[in-house]
Amino acid sequence: MPNQPLTVFLAAPRGFCAGVDRAIKIVEMALTKWGAPVYVRHEIVHNKFVVDGLRAKGAVFVEDLKDAPVDRPVIFSAHGVPKSVPAEAQARNMIYVDATCPLVSKVHIEARRHSESGFQLVMIGHKGHPETIGTMGQLPDGEVLLVETVRDVQAIDVRDPGRLAFVTQTTLSVDDTAEIVTALKARFPAIVGPHKEDICYATTNRQAAVRAMAPKVDAMLIVGAPNSSNSRRLVEVGLRAGCAHAQLVQRAKDIDWRAMEGISKLGVTAGASAPEVLVNEVIDAVRARFDVTVSLVETAVEDIEFKVPRVLRQTT
Ligand code: SF4
Repeated sequence: MPNQPLTVFLAAPRGFCAGVDRAIKIVEMALTKWGAPVYVRHEIVHNKFVVDGLRAKGAVFVEDLKDAPVDRPVIFSAHGVPKSVPAEAQARNMIYVDATCPLVSKVHIEARRHSESGFQLVMIGHKGHPETIGTMGQLPDGEVLLVETVRDVQAIDVRDPGRLAFVTQTTLSVDDTAEIVTALKARFPAIVGPHKEDICYATTNRQAAVRAMAPKVDAMLIVGAPNSSNSRRLVEVGLRAGCAHAQLVQRAKDIDWRAMEGISKLGVTAGASAPEVLVNEVIDAVRARFDVTVSLVETAVEDIEFKVPRVLRQTT
């Protein structure tokens, strides 16, 4: 019996962003320059496939800088680190390379600038996420008030409502964050911050593509890791935009085929840390069960690239 026809709507842009691409290149170039092992503090990007691939080439992943020996180079992940981490590496005389995405570093600079101008800082972000820890860690402990929800905005106790600023995590939901920013401005009319928020171009574009695709499809597969903030947001955006079933899958083996029964239109996208090879794996698995026609849903074209740090561009 012939397979059931299925149109796969493929989101563009999807997958790797410029910050993830740069961070992976940094580890690869560090391995070429210094040889294995090279230590990496935290998963360089939140994707097991990427991390396992780098581990096979000689990268060693540790959560705490103390677990890296002083005589090997160490790389800080794309999510950014508190100020205390490079300070500790310096104190231990270690070679370190910072793979923090330049768009996260930009938020770190904003945070420090506001504090130096005498403003207390509010951060909109997810508690415990490494990016939030890194940005809050640009200022002394207790200096940054974290808000995750509109309700948190009502609960915070600020020093001076006239000298307040906000920054955000780069991988949040654009819609949820707009609501939180509105609540902050309503409660603290003098609060200063970025024009809209600090959500990066890659997060914004991937969410816009999902929003455009969701009403067209019966189900959606988002390729990404469960600890990837921007991938999880894509699931939420898809459901909110009207798709009845949106599933986060790390690999093709994770697909819930029962949810695919009887569908004729499937959306596929990938979070910013998910490689294209896994998107292809997922589409190949769908092809094995359906008669697939692929249709691109392109809502933006990206041509952003970030340079790797100078130390890795030097040949000696
Ligand atoms: S998702 Fe955005 S902030 Fe994060 S690494 Fe990619 S470009 Fe940078």
